[in-house]
Amino acid sequence: MSNTPNKKVKRVTHKPTSRQQQIRYAKRKKSLRRRRIRNRLIVLGGFVLILWAIISLVVHLLAPAPMPTTKKTTTTTDKSKYPAVTVCVDPGHGGYDGGNIMADGTSEKDVTLKYAKAFGKYLKEMNPNIKIVYTRTSDTVSWPEDEVEDLKERVKIADDANADYFISFHVNSNEDDSSLNSYDFYVRGNDDASIAIAKKIHQNLKKAGWNYDYLIQDVATYPLYVITEQKKRPSMLYEVGYGSNLAQAKALQKKKNINKIAKAAAKAYHDYILKNNS
Ligand SMILES: [Zn+2]
Repeated sequence: MSNTPNKKVKRVTHKPTSRQQQIRYAKRKKSLRRRRIRNRLIVLGGFVLILWAIISLVVHLLAPAPMPTTKKTTTTTDKSKYPAVTVCVDPGHGGYDGGNIMADGTSEKDVTLKYAKAFGKYLKEMNPNIKIVYTRTSDTVSWPEDEVEDLKERVKIADDANADYFISFHVNSNEDDSSLNSYDFYVRGNDDASIAIAKKIHQNLKKAGWNYDYLIQDVATYPLYVITEQKKRPSMLYEVGYGSNLAQAKALQKKKNINKIAKAAAKAYHDYILKNNS
């Protein structure tokens, strides 16, 4: 700041007197001004360049990592393209047949209906193109009071719907050991699809915190009409737990657990269908 007055004084001292000097002075002044402007432009340009470089670097660092290209082939977010398969969902027992009387006095048929409906709802949410065909949606049944006709009709419903998959929900019981804590899948021994799905249900349940043992049983050893008499379609009878155990009978009827189990099963079917029916 203290230099400014001196500069002014200096300029005044060299102020031109003749016309020629005045012209020369004006030219020099003009050229000096141009140089000053040019220098300022260079400095400004440099500053803009540095700023641009910093912004580019920050944007690059903050940008999310690009999605691996392989992921696009395995996941489809467009639900409209999901496979339009038919799944026949069978709530065990119903109507004249109450099934087991669970340890708390509840009829098995009322619990199987809740599981079947929750399963169908979740599966439909996951894949809107899926057609869910229930063998019954209430305690009213379409078959006569006859155990053989009852089971035949369930298989016929799956056949008439040309179902791609069949799943029947039940609650197990064991008179000898009321403390059993497990669940079972009954399938045909050569039904690789249902075996794979059963294993996936178990994995999903474990992830959801439902930590019980499970068994995959072959209907060659434990004949179950609704499975053995199905056409080639993958078919499973899922005993979600043991109602003969009082603690489990109560746990199996909690809405939270019904949803947890039904969702784990629906997700297993959904993933399998996406992979194998697309
Ligand atoms: Zn049953």
